[in-house]
Amino acid sequence: MRIVVLTGAGISAESGVPTFRDADGLWEGHRVEDVATPEAFERDPRTVQRFYDERRRAVAAVRPNPAHVALAELERRLGDDLVVVTQNIDDLHEQAGSTRVVHMHGRLDTALCETCGARTPVDRDLADDAGCPACGTASLRPDVVWFGEMPYDLDRIDLELAACDRFVAIGTSGAVYPAAGFVLTAAGFGARTLELNLVESEVSLLFDEVRHGLASMLVPAWVDEILAEVG
Ligand code: NAD
Repeated sequence: MRIVVLTGAGISAESGVPTFRDADGLWEGHRVEDVATPEAFERDPRTVQRFYDERRRAVAAVRPNPAHVALAELERRLGDDLVVVTQNIDDLHEQAGSTRVVHMHGRLDTALCETCGARTPVDRDLADDAGCPACGTASLRPDVVWFGEMPYDLDRIDLELAACDRFVAIGTSGAVYPAAGFVLTAAGFGARTLELNLVESEVSLLFDEVRHGLASMLVPAWVDEILAEVG
């Protein structure tokens, strides 16, 4: 059985990483247009670097929760038949032991050089020290996909969606495309689709089945079902 899991900020919420849109419509107190667009970076690079430096420091202190751990356990059983496509820029899937993870919106623990295109590991603040180790120019930016930019690995994701038997979306609001449309692609190729979320998402109606609750409860229970099914 081939499975594609799409995760969003909701899977990391119980680890202590705030989700994207709080009730006030802000991301950690900032308007999205001020910190998560190429225009914001052009206008005020220091504020944007500081914002992601804070996020990097915050996620360095958090640990995976039972939802991440259950997905890693599922990979140990299914191997190459499971891929986790995440919109998250934290590394909690990897910390839990998952290895087949596609970070379609980039990640906080690498930096991207605007001059030479190199992606290099980073565990320090970029605001004050942005020299690229590959080309030496001071043009490192956060390796995250901002609004208006093309997500990573879409060709690979399309192939995985076309080949899967199950598509499961966990803790994602269905507000950010193209990820919000993956359910339609998978269903169009015949996959059975399931959404796990605290509440209704913007695309709940598109799924064959929807379950509401905490990811830390719903994901381990669903993984147990799959493990029983595949034997
Ligand atoms: P979102 O914040 O728009 O939506 C979060 C979803 O998770 C909501 O539908 C909410 O109901 C659900 N949720 C919250 N707590 C939950 C829980 N305990 N169990 C189950 N579901 C829960 O997130 P999104 O759809 O991923 O879009 C946000 C964008 O912002 C992403 O593209 C990402 O790049 C970025 N982001 C990343 C992180 C991270 O890396 N952890 C955090 C915030 C934002």
